[in-house]
Amino acid sequence: MVLAELGSKINHALRNMGTASVVDEQALDACLKEIATALIQADVNIKMVKQLRDNVKRQVQIEDLAAGLNKKRVIEKAVFSELCSMLDPSTEPYELKKGKSNVVMFVGLQGNGKTTTCTKYAYANKRKGYRPAMICADTFRAGAFDQLKQNCTKAGIPFYGSYTETDPAAIAQAGVDRFRQEKYDLIIVDTSGRHKQEDALFEEMREIEEAVQPDCIVFVIDGSVGQAAYDQALAFKKTVPVGAVIVTKLDGHAKGGGALSAVAATDSPIIYIGTGEHIDQFEHFEAKSFVSRLLG
Ligand code: GDP
Repeated sequence: MVLAELGSKINHALRNMGTASVVDEQALDACLKEIATALIQADVNIKMVKQLRDNVKRQVQIEDLAAGLNKKRVIEKAVFSELCSMLDPSTEPYELKKGKSNVVMFVGLQGNGKTTTCTKYAYANKRKGYRPAMICADTFRAGAFDQLKQNCTKAGIPFYGSYTETDPAAIAQAGVDRFRQEKYDLIIVDTSGRHKQEDALFEEMREIEEAVQPDCIVFVIDGSVGQAAYDQALAFKKTVPVGAVIVTKLDGHAKGGGALSAVAATDSPIIYIGTGEHIDQFEHFEAKSFVSRLLG
């Protein structure tokens, strides 16, 4: 994973500072500059990088640190905690509830891995004891329903869709009604990721959201989307109340940093990451352990 490179660059910056004869403001600035460069190279949103830099400086107050204190250690801790808070918004993700039909709607642009992720999410929760079912509310892309059907069949998950109905909100509603009646406790609504006009896509998301009143909306973003990720995430968040993020394709050459910015844009936590095409290449995400792993 290219993100591992980011980790080693940050570690390098911290180590370099440790070899400075005095850890003063100048040494801290040099270290933070090196870290900022590494983050920007990994496509982390520039505003977020600046914020991280300012916050570390504010947290450390290097000139006021008591003599005898291990300054390098204080700085390392501040960098760690700021990286964590960059990835950890104050909001908690929606927790699935047993004994009710949880409705989870997935949104994101085409090609980001939405349908694959819906299946992975269904499968991961099936293994936890839920009874998932999936709905294809994408009538724009020919073949979308077939793809979902194929994924569901492989994973042994019931599905709903239509080859004739053209209104995705109507399909979503009918599917949710049916699976509610059949007492499925996790109903997943997969949506379209493309339209002739972008506005029409967002309008459609709004209509589906209104029709099914989801308990949670998950925004799916490809880890290799660079600086554009922030605006993309923001556009969805402005349209529908996104409550969680899943970053996909963190296995390949993805720099990852752009997609991590979706957290700030949506003020929503990352709940899983996709690490391959296979159904179980899916990892639960927790900011602290991710940053610990990143920094080795
Ligand atoms: P959608 O258009 O957003 O629904 O995207 P799809 O689910 O059809 O996925 C697009 C492509 O990305 C497919 O070839 C998937 O197999 C692939 N894909 C999805 N998630 C991952 C992932 O985590 N890692 C890798 N390597 N490929 C993925």
